[in-house]
Amino acid sequence: MQNLPVLLLLCVAACSAYPLLETAKDENSITDFVQQYLEHYYDLAKDGKQFVRRKNSNPVVEKIKEMQNFFGLEVTGKLDSNTLEVMHKPRCGVPDVGHFSTFPGSPKWRKTHLTYRIVEYTQDLSRDAVDSAIEKALKVWAEVTPLTFSRIHEGEADIMISFAVKGHGDFFPFDGPGNTLAHAFSPGPGIDGDAHFDDDEQWTEDKTGTNLFLVAAHELGHSLGLFHSNNIEALMYPLYNPLTDLARFHLSQDDVNGIQSLYGPPPVSHDETVVPTPNPPEHETQDMCDPALSFDSVSTLRGEFLFFKDKYFWRKSLRSLTPEFNLISSFWPTLPSGVDAAFEVASKDTVFIFKDNQFWAIRGTEIQVGYPRTIQTLGFPSTIRKIDAAISDKEKKKTYFFVGDKYWRFDETRQTLEPGFPRQTADDFPGVDTKIDAVFEAFGFFYFFSGSSQFEFDPNAKKVTHILKSNSWFNC
Ligand SMILES: [Zn+2]
Ligand SMILES: [Zn+2]
Repeated sequence: MQNLPVLLLLCVAACSAYPLLETAKDENSITDFVQQYLEHYYDLAKDGKQFVRRKNSNPVVEKIKEMQNFFGLEVTGKLDSNTLEVMHKPRCGVPDVGHFSTFPGSPKWRKTHLTYRIVEYTQDLSRDAVDSAIEKALKVWAEVTPLTFSRIHEGEADIMISFAVKGHGDFFPFDGPGNTLAHAFSPGPGIDGDAHFDDDEQWTEDKTGTNLFLVAAHELGHSLGLFHSNNIEALMYPLYNPLTDLARFHLSQDDVNGIQSLYGPPPVSHDETVVPTPNPPEHETQDMCDPALSFDSVSTLRGEFLFFKDKYFWRKSLRSLTPEFNLISSFWPTLPSGVDAAFEVASKDTVFIFKDNQFWAIRGTEIQVGYPRTIQTLGFPSTIRKIDAAISDKEKKKTYFFVGDKYWRFDETRQTLEPGFPRQTADDFPGVDTKIDAVFEAFGFFYFFSGSSQFEFDPNAKKVTHILKSNSWFNC
């Protein structure tokens, strides 16, 4: 039974902790430790420091039981020695329950070719040793999926890898040697997808310290969208296992099932003799900093901004400096390119996308059933063939549709176009007197786009407050 030596090893660590229980002061440090452990890994509500001390308080007992259940310990709800032992083991910093993600749901990458970049190195190993540990760790996942990885040396990669100590710019400071070894964020823009390693560990190529390959392979599993497994054989088990046979390392079936449920198996080659290297899709780009850049339409989506252009869109969150550039079809395969108008109705968590006389309703990455519909179903006369731009005012529950130099207003509560429209846009939006390509709302302002110009409009003061370049949101 290969776990026995682990237990012996841990006994050394845990036994050395027992004398701590002897004094009240040290009991405090144990309760603080347990409190923090349960808050961080088991989503215990942060409610002062009283919970763990009131040993019989339900939330704590429930969380201890949850933790014991996860690790296959006897479920007592008590802080027995086995439970404290597991709590002291070196482990991944990602919680066992709840999602370590800035995105709701179970995110995964919407593309199969991903970039990574090693931003900060450790002093413990040569750069070559770090590079090769990371490359090997990515290969573990690439072998069982259609995913491919390429390394970049500058700019923002999908997966940014760094070594750091203590507080390092996210809300999850590292804790010095031992305990938390590393953490990584689920797929997404900005910090999402990134992997951080605690540089207070002694990183090694072998197992004399903390083996970098082993921890990196686990963390990159998170970067690809996997959560922790309670299967002790799995790479995605949250505890570091120093007994893993590195020479014969392989993923468990549990890991393979997990990652293939997100991305499927690797592509089958029809030619047995020559295995073609999957060609990473041509990294098409469009110069987002071109001063002449214009957009087809712009919308918000769950706090982010989407800028549509031809068959692409830029996705910008306020947390990241650089927007992400995507094919529309990689998120919504059945949506057309050259979108005319788009707006979000936040109360319905829905974005409506318009092209010619049709429109679609999307929620996250899902197109809602029953779409596309024609714009005539909204009440537009058949003479209206397309919408130029649209925006929904969440306060007033009205949606504005701009067509040529006029606009219609739609009552979201009654689901009908209001009488008395269309009206001249320039009469009600003074200063906005050119053809409108796109409009969206941010921070209480309406931003109208016309070619490469953007008008910031204050709907309360009813005036244009700034004129900007259309790509001003991209920090060029
Ligand atoms: Zn983990
Ligand atoms: Zn971090």
